Amino acid sequence: MPVIRQLPPAVINKIAAGEVIERPASVVKELLENSVDAGADRVEVSMTGGGLESIRVADNGCGMSADQLHLAVASHATSKIESADDLFHVATLGFRGEALASIAEVSHFLVRSRTADELAGAQLRVNGGDRAALEPCGCDVGTTIEVRDLFFNTPVRRKFLRAAATEVSYCTEAFTRVCLAYPAVRFVLKNNERVLFDLPPAVNWAERITTLLGREVGAALIPVDGEESGIRISGYVADPNFSRGNNRWQYLFLNGRCIRDRSLQHALTEAYRGLLMTGRFPVAFLRLEMPVELVDVNVHPTKMEVRFQDAGRIYSQILGTVRRKFLSSDLTLRVRSAQTQAVANRQTGAAPDADPARGASSPAGSRPPLSAAPTTFATSFGADPRMPAAGGRAAEARATSGVEQRQQHRQDLLDWARGQSATTSDHPSPRPSTAATPWEVDEQRQVSARPIASPITTGGQQAVPAIPEIRLDDAQPAVRPPAGLQLHQRYLVTEDEQGILIIDQHALHERILYEQLREKVESGRMETQRLLVPEPVDLSGAELAVVLESIDALANVGIGVEPFGGDSVLIRSYPAMLSRIRPAELLRQIVDLLVEGKRGLEKRDMLEEILNMVACKAAVKAGDSLAGEEVAALLSQRHLFRDTHHCPHGRPTALAFSREELDRRFKRI
Ligand code: ADP
Ligand code: MG
Repeated sequence: MPVIRQLPPAVINKIAAGEVIERPASVVKELLENSVDAGADRVEVSMTGGGLESIRVADNGCGMSADQLHLAVASHATSKIESADDLFHVATLGFRGEALASIAEVSHFLVRSRTADELAGAQLRVNGGDRAALEPCGCDVGTTIEVRDLFFNTPVRRKFLRAAATEVSYCTEAFTRVCLAYPAVRFVLKNNERVLFDLPPAVNWAERITTLLGREVGAALIPVDGEESGIRISGYVADPNFSRGNNRWQYLFLNGRCIRDRSLQHALTEAYRGLLMTGRFPVAFLRLEMPVELVDVNVHPTKMEVRFQDAGRIYSQILGTVRRKFLSSDLTLRVRSAQTQAVANRQTGAAPDADPARGASSPAGSRPPLSAAPTTFATSFGADPRMPAAGGRAAEARATSGVEQRQQHRQDLLDWARGQSATTSDHPSPRPSTAATPWEVDEQRQVSARPIASPITTGGQQAVPAIPEIRLDDAQPAVRPPAGLQLHQRYLVTEDEQGILIIDQHALHERILYEQLREKVESGRMETQRLLVPEPVDLSGAELAVVLESIDALANVGIGVEPFGGDSVLIRSYPAMLSRIRPAELLRQIVDLLVEGKRGLEKRDMLEEILNMVACKAAVKAGDSLAGEEVAALLSQRHLFRDTHHCPHGRPTALAFSREELDRRFKRI
């Protein structure tokens, strides 16, 4: 029969230690947090052998009196909370009273401390949980803790540790998190006597980020700030042109505590949607400040994870704050020399900013204007697409030969320039009002319907879609679009107030189309036309299943599909603006996409994928030569849509050389 025993304290402590202290970096984290809680403004971490041999943390905080040292290393002994109620009002980094006891249980441990009221300090040694006698010692005000031979008495744990170099990098990460949270504190990190970091108190957060993580990220920081019902989100996100191959540079601080939260990281990813290439991750440094009772920090032994009362609200607040900032920022990729970079760094570093140390908050006056609404793509599902397009225009089919297609490219390009202000200015949209755009078009004067007669033949049948055709007449637009030149049949060169821009014609066109499509889908204004002769498409059983599943999503993008017996479907209607791609061809490509990505693709992502694909297919390609007018039409669109600095796959659409940069390179200055 199994016998139930009460475990001796030494075993209990070892179990607790296993939870909290995983490797040297855990010791660095816990000791640094204690120093910060003790109000230190100078903390030095010195390790040897990546912390495997020894870790010493010395601070100038409040210290402990001799009679407290025994308690400090006792388990469940803390000065930071008194009652269970306090658990929901934790304003310090520690509160569990377990760290020192755990560390002392699995190492050769020494604490030396002195308060400002005492003339001499005291020290206490603990070896693998066995306390030696308290001794007086001479020391400065503050606390020094030394941890040697971590896990000497738990060999299994010790075996899991890596080479010293790897442990150094873990320790550096733990150090970085605390240093980022408390920029006003001076922190030093040494390994084997070598100084890895010596961080002076920073005047602002950008400076601390730059000294810790480098000038490159420092130059890419874009400040964000926003407050809604007592929850403030502030800090920096990096320009999408500066990204990482993993999500480790996404630092989130909740009331001064570095946390990891997958859902909030997802909000970031969502905010960068379409601005980063696949496999790249946003870089961000965000502080969340909220009343302590809105969050439970007591859910995880290392306190890296927390539970928010209203996680959904914080999610949309992060998404909205970052997104709004991007919409009001120019994210064009700029070519910079080292010199210009240095200037930019100084400017970033000098930006007025709050001290994010606990309790401090920055002046509300420095917030950016909050203008546009956050992305609400999910809400677009379920909207009804509009049936046939604008009446009165000639209904005619067209051929799909290469030459004809190319001509259609051009026509489409020009159409956008013409039709844009008329079709989209009457509903809310995050881009600037069309009144301010360079192409103010009098639709009456410039646009007229032109029938073209070239039938599409599909499977022996003749489809005659009602495609509105728009012809340009010779009238000049009210304001000239920016002048541009096509080079190598793929790049457009133009100027703006600041300098020269080189634009990737496909990437830009793709973004414009994508935004246009998305806008139409979101507002339920996708103009579709009923095909005079519906087009049947034969599918496999599996394909049919996904198509039937996606009938609503397809309807949303303007493709009306219905079952047609057996494994076939019938395309009954089709978006007017995609007249260049044959309906059956487009449907097949969408089906491939759906079958491929079926697993794990959320509805919203699926629509996104479809829009992405359609935009890519419909956009001019590298190698398509464009007429001057077409170049102008494309360039004039650049200012009408959001995110035109990146294509929907996250590639930059333009490269900018400022005049200053050019002058510098030509040695004019
Ligand atoms: P917790 O931080 O959760 O309270 P710890 O085991 O980390 O638990 O520390 C126990 C107690 O020891 C703390 O509550 C604090 O009163 C004291 N202490 C620990 N480190 C320091 C330090 N560096 N300076 C002053 N007091 C300290
Ligand atoms: Mg602690």
